[in-house]
Amino acid sequence: MKNIYLFGECMIELMSASKEANTLKQSFAGDVFNTAVYLKRLFNDTNVNMVTAVGKDSFSEDMISLFNAENLSSTQVFRSENKIPGLYAIELDEQGERSFTYWRNDSAARSVMKFIGDSNIAEICQGDVFFFSGISLGVVLPEDREKFWHFIAQIKAAGVKIAFDLNYRPRLWSSKDEAQQQFLKAFESADIILPGVDDFAAIFELDDVSSVIEFFSQYQYQELVIKNGEKNVYCLSVNGLEVVDVTPVKNVVDTTSAGDSFNGGYLGARLAGHSITQSVELANQVAGFVIQHKGAIVDKATFSSRFN
Ligand code: ADP
Repeated sequence: MKNIYLFGECMIELMSASKEANTLKQSFAGDVFNTAVYLKRLFNDTNVNMVTAVGKDSFSEDMISLFNAENLSSTQVFRSENKIPGLYAIELDEQGERSFTYWRNDSAARSVMKFIGDSNIAEICQGDVFFFSGISLGVVLPEDREKFWHFIAQIKAAGVKIAFDLNYRPRLWSSKDEAQQQFLKAFESADIILPGVDDFAAIFELDDVSSVIEFFSQYQYQELVIKNGEKNVYCLSVNGLEVVDVTPVKNVVDTTSAGDSFNGGYLGARLAGHSITQSVELANQVAGFVIQHKGAIVDKATFSSRFN
């Protein structure tokens, strides 16, 4: 059985359920968690492991129950004695535009590196892929960064493929420079890089695919998969350059999790032995489906009516 570890934060999500009644609907989401859910739903034969920290409160219990319900492994989910999960709320304005408010500065997930010891590293070293994102990097406490990069070096040396998606969120960083420094380290380590053109434009001010490809010519990746929204996906690998077109979706409802669900489809398909272009084609279909539904996670029955 293939084994993938996904490192980052899952948060409590609050979304307006009814403006009139002043009620909020509570669920859970977070970029690497979203990726994990779609990957496991599509490729049940793959072991999908969350690497994160939660608390001992009832929300944390519910979060772990959800991991279990989605068949995600929690052997690397740590329980902080004194921290609780991060929280965010989504508000819709009159025009249907979304805005996000976060309470995550002191979340349990930020302290995840404090829990990772030799036995955890030994287990993860047996895995096939380790995935993290620019959000995961922003969440790791600055004081734990050295330990994090040492950990990455150890698992990479053991033969685990390192996969990384940029997911730049300015508010997680004290400056653009700080984020850039961490991202450059990720590019040095990563075997599979899955950036979106928009994120790349926001952080490195390169806003077209050819400049992004040129930028990465200095790195030793195996697979570079550049997500270019509704247009296409550029893939660079030993096969050279392959471009896969996207069939644009007409009724986009909510683009939350487009890139995350793409990553789940792509990484799952690659682990299952599909070619790069087959994996991108599946990833495009999954992301195209997810953006026709509200929220990060499409409910299980709706999703399985289209996939499987
Ligand atoms: P992110 O910024 O979250 O990484 P992108 O906008 O690059 O997301 O989109 C991720 C993926 O979602 C794309 O590679 C594509 O597969 C799919 N996608 C995004 N927008 C559309 C659209 N309008 N129609 C169809 N698919 C889309």
